[in-house]
Parts: sequence; structure tokens; C-alpha cells
Amino acid sequence: MAMRPESSLGQQIADDSIGEEIYSLAAEIYPICRSITGNGVRETLRHLARHIGLSVHEVPTGTQVFDWTIPREWNIRDAYIKNERGEKIVDFARSNLHVMSYSLPVCAHMPLAELKGHIFTLPEQPDLIPYRTSYYSENWGFCMAHRQFLDLADATYEAVIDSSLKEGFLTYGEYLHRGEAGSEFLFSAHICHPSLANDNCSGLALLTHLAKRLSRLKTRYSYRFLFAPGTIGAICWLARNEDKIERIKHGLIVSMAGDSGGPTYKKSRRGTSLIDRAFAHVLRHSGLEPAILDFSPYGYDERQFCSPAFNLPVGLFQRSKFGSIPEYHTSADNLDFIRPEYLAQSYRLIVLALEVIEGDKVYINIMPKCEPQLGKRGLYDAIGGHKDVAAGNMALLWVLNLSDGSHSLLDIAERAELPFGVIRRATELLRQSGLLAPISEAC
Ligand code: ZN
Repeated sequence: MAMRPESSLGQQIADDSIGEEIYSLAAEIYPICRSITGNGVRETLRHLARHIGLSVHEVPTGTQVFDWTIPREWNIRDAYIKNERGEKIVDFARSNLHVMSYSLPVCAHMPLAELKGHIFTLPEQPDLIPYRTSYYSENWGFCMAHRQFLDLADATYEAVIDSSLKEGFLTYGEYLHRGEAGSEFLFSAHICHPSLANDNCSGLALLTHLAKRLSRLKTRYSYRFLFAPGTIGAICWLARNEDKIERIKHGLIVSMAGDSGGPTYKKSRRGTSLIDRAFAHVLRHSGLEPAILDFSPYGYDERQFCSPAFNLPVGLFQRSKFGSIPEYHTSADNLDFIRPEYLAQSYRLIVLALEVIEGDKVYINIMPKCEPQLGKRGLYDAIGGHKDVAAGNMALLWVLNLSDGSHSLLDIAERAELPFGVIRRATELLRQSGLLAPISEAC
């Protein structure tokens, strides 16, 4: 857990408090009832906007976005089930997971047999409340612990859902940090889940703090942050921004960034994009036990960004892989399930991958006829503490040998099996000694 960023970028934007800061923002937005549309998304964006200058977009119901249509806007004020004694046995105010997202309004008395058709539970996990949605078919429903469901007396119940499903808007937020180049790095996190801490309050909070810190820096790339509802939000953004697609050179979806599992990186559809190689490299040198997965057309919004017409180099970063853990889409994905130290570690891994992407350039060895004499230039043993000296010396030799105009620093790091940061420091020393010159910036 003591992994430290090795880069100047990392040193500038990661500090000891980062995990606590991300956790505290995740905890702040956790209670809000979000869905793919509605005031919960707006309220969440207001919390994020306290840290970064977000622009908020509202897209009207009925707008066609490729093969999809922006749905009606859903809002909810209250919901409960009362028994015959007037006691609330299920209460939205206690957990917003109790109501199936996009439930139609209802206010009715009904026998248990009828109510049962609208109750969802997890028999295999009898103490947990499931997370359910019904965006595109009209229905209403309650979610509850199976153990409580089994105890329901055969009686009449009052079911109330004070919701509305009306013409309105789909809301998403965007933040752009402008770099030296017009080329962009796209970050995206879904904002449509209610009180689920890992999936995806953690991703929203992590990216907000990353954006906040990047905003103070000069960067090579521009960084676009998208906070949009899953699937329909990404489709909507792509449909409205086809003119910007060309600029996106790298991208990353971030979800489930705060649990103890993983880390997991799922490659883009291209599989060998710089983001794929950068993450594979960083994770390989992390000292952790990462899972690196090939692309598949299932998961989060990489499905949309990697659809064949766009085929963008967008990967997915998570800790545990979605769907692979018992807490997934249940009330157990709460604020105890995410921890500041794991959020901090996720943040640092992402920053290390950014360092690779920002720093991956091609240099040329100015004295390629045999080895230049490093000793007389004070370059031998010039890198790092005693433990790193051997790696530092090897890095100098690799950089000199492979800087023939056709290898980037990441190519060299991979070939040398050394961390990118070590290769980059060697490059800097050789450049200062006049042995190396940059020849390209592949923005
Ligand atoms: Zn989810």
C-alpha cells in the first residue's frame, strides 16, 4: 500500500490526503437518489461542481440519439409500504434502494399476493436489498431483504410511490482542462446509480479530485471529464459530439475504484492503444496482483466508446471486476465497502498511467557510434539511491541503445522491463548531458 508515484506529475497531484478527500466526496454524494435522469443527477453534479468548473447539459425528453430516444424524466419524493397497523415496513427514506428505479407512481391498498408481484429480493443473500431498475418498460416495484419478505404476514398492505415520470431532460456534466495540444484524454464515470458507494460514487469522486488537481497544471494533452448516466448518457454525449471524436487519443472509464479487490484493467477494443499499454505497464510494475482483461462488448460505457464506428482507445479501470463480487448491486455496496487507502491507490495507479501517456516521446541518440563515455560525464550511478543504481545504469544504456528514432520511451521501458519513471529519469539526465534530443511528440 506504500506505493508512491515516481513522476513529477504524480508528485504534483497526489498527496497523502488524497484518499480521505475522495472518500469524503463519495460519502457526501452517497445518500442522493440518482437515476438516468432527474434531480438526483443535478444534485450530484452540484456537489462535484464545488471542486471543478463543470458545465451542465440538459437534453430534452424525446431527443433522438442514434438508435435511442432520451426518456422521460423520473423524480421521486417518497415511497413506502405500510402494514395494517400503519407502520412503514419498507421506507424509501431509510434506503433509496428500496424503490426500483423508474417506478411509476402508485398509491393503493392490495393483498400480499398482489404486492408480491412487485417485490424484488435476493434469496441467496437474504439480508441485502437488491438494486433494480426498469428504465424502458413501465412498471413499479419495491426491493427488500429476502428475510424480511419471508416474514410478511398474509394481510393487506398500502403501497405508495410518490414519483413522477414526465417530459423533462437528461442531465450530464462535463469539465475540460485544456492542455498544450488539442488532442484529448477522455475520462468518464457513470452518475446514474443511487446509494451504491463503490459503483459509482467512488468513480465520480476520484475523477472530480483528479480533475481538480490537473486543473492547476500545464499538461501536454487536454483532459475531458464526463459525468453522465450509464449507456444512454454516453450514447447521448457521442451523438452530440461527433465533431470532437477525432480529438480523443486516449480514454478511461472509472468505476468501482474503492474496494479492496483488483486492480482490474480492461483493454480498449483496439487492445494495443497507448492507454492499454500504459496501464499494462503500470500494473505490471505496481507490486500488486492485477487482472488485465481483453475487451468484450459488455461492462460499462467502454461499450459505447468502443462501438465499431467510433472504436476509441478507451479502457476501463476498476478494482474488483464488475459483477464478480457479492456486494455488487446490493445494499452491501455501502460506505464501509470502500476505503480511503484503496481510493488513494486507484488514484495513484491512474496518475502513473497518465505520466506514461504525458511523457511517452521519441528521442534520438546524438552519439550513436559505440557507447558514449558515461563515466566522464558523471552519469554512471547518477540515478536513485543505492538500490536503484543498477536499474538506473541499465536504464541509461537502454535509452541510449534504443533511441534510434523508432522507439518511444514506453517501448524502451517495456523492452528493458524497467518502470517508465526510471526510463524517464535516465532520459532526462542524458538530455541534460547533450547525448539525447527529442525528435517527436506523437500528440
Ligand atoms: Zn452498476
